[in-house]
Amino acid sequence: MIPQMNRIGGHLLAATFRGFGIHAKVMDTYKGLDLGKKFTSGKECYPCQITTGDILYFMEKERERLGDAFDPERYIYFMPESSGPCRFGMYNKYQRIVLDSLPELSRLKIGSLTTDDGYSLSGIIDKGRVRDLRKAAYFSVVVADVLDRLLWRIRPYEEDPGTTDTFIERSMHVMEDVFEEFGPEKAFDRILDQMEVIIEKAKGLMDPRIPRKPLIGIVGEIYLRSHTHANQDLIRVLEKYGAEVVNASIAEWMNYISYDRLREAKIAFGLSMKQLRFGPMKKQIKKILGFGSELYYQEFRQKKVYDRLTSMIDLAGDHKVGDLEKVLRKDDLFSFDAGTEACLSIPGIVEYAHEGYNGVVNVYPFTCMPSTITSSIIRPRMDELGIPYLDTPCDESIQPGREAAIRTFMYQGYQHFKQYGRKAF
Ligand code: SF4
Repeated sequence: MIPQMNRIGGHLLAATFRGFGIHAKVMDTYKGLDLGKKFTSGKECYPCQITTGDILYFMEKERERLGDAFDPERYIYFMPESSGPCRFGMYNKYQRIVLDSLPELSRLKIGSLTTDDGYSLSGIIDKGRVRDLRKAAYFSVVVADVLDRLLWRIRPYEEDPGTTDTFIERSMHVMEDVFEEFGPEKAFDRILDQMEVIIEKAKGLMDPRIPRKPLIGIVGEIYLRSHTHANQDLIRVLEKYGAEVVNASIAEWMNYISYDRLREAKIAFGLSMKQLRFGPMKKQIKKILGFGSELYYQEFRQKKVYDRLTSMIDLAGDHKVGDLEKVLRKDDLFSFDAGTEACLSIPGIVEYAHEGYNGVVNVYPFTCMPSTITSSIIRPRMDELGIPYLDTPCDESIQPGREAAIRTFMYQGYQHFKQYGRKAF
């Protein structure tokens, strides 16, 4: 069972798993929020409440569907985790406590992939196939990013309202079949052939008479910025007030995890060398080679996808994590030593500003540590750069002034657009 963060990404990932013979399914999301709130105290991060609700709701429905045949031991709930200073690493531990407190669900397993090994996927499939599954899964993440970007590129310019949403939903299902069939043999070119067909059709939905609109970048906490229910459909609201939007990608986070593990291994190697500890040095070299080749592979694969598909339509590309670290170092804004998503959001915003975006929105769960840090560091910088900037912290409550704030922000974005134009991809 895969929790739904970004809808397209979850479905393509599940399809890839199915291609490898793993019976994977994306759980409905946000329907069990009441259950999530019932089993949390309110101090947990909002994504933890949502995903706790998702799993409890899913299991409740399964029990209703199967009756006496329901056996929780036949399910594995897939929840990635992360080490580091923020609370993401505690979600699955907290959810374990919740499940253990419910006698009928205590036998339900949680598959907790960890950033410690760069989400290696070992443990859910035969060792010999882990590498292929990991490659195909990463590819599904990149293709899902492109499909999302296609949606945001086409929808503000669609001729008939609603057609883009319907088209992209249909395309997602087509791509699920494609990933199931071609993912296991890593026939990536065949997968991209189908993406080309989709892009060609999507272009036909646009009304060429609609002029380009102000370009708004989104950064923030990965779950909130990707989960349309949780962020109260932020992109659609921005579009309603005249924006074309680019959200930070999911592949960027995957690349960051590999980059950060590589960076840690290099630092540890340097320390061991100073202390002449040869045993640890050997281990660190192995890690450096492993994470180094993984990062190289991911960035190479991602570039190939974008090079091929953006020759058909002008979609935004992705930042390289190494370049983002240089941005932080240059302006001495933050350090990768501190970790978390702030490492991507802060330089990501600066890059958006330099590239000619007309405004940036930071979206995050209320009380989220990395995003609050981002906000505190970036606000004065944005004032210096003269770029409209908006924080949109979210929980499940509807804030009465939110839409007015977005509308005002978009007015500023439009003024910026009129004065300076916008980035062309
Ligand atoms: S990134 Fe923010 S919301 Fe996510 S676990 Fe960390 S503190 Fe919580």
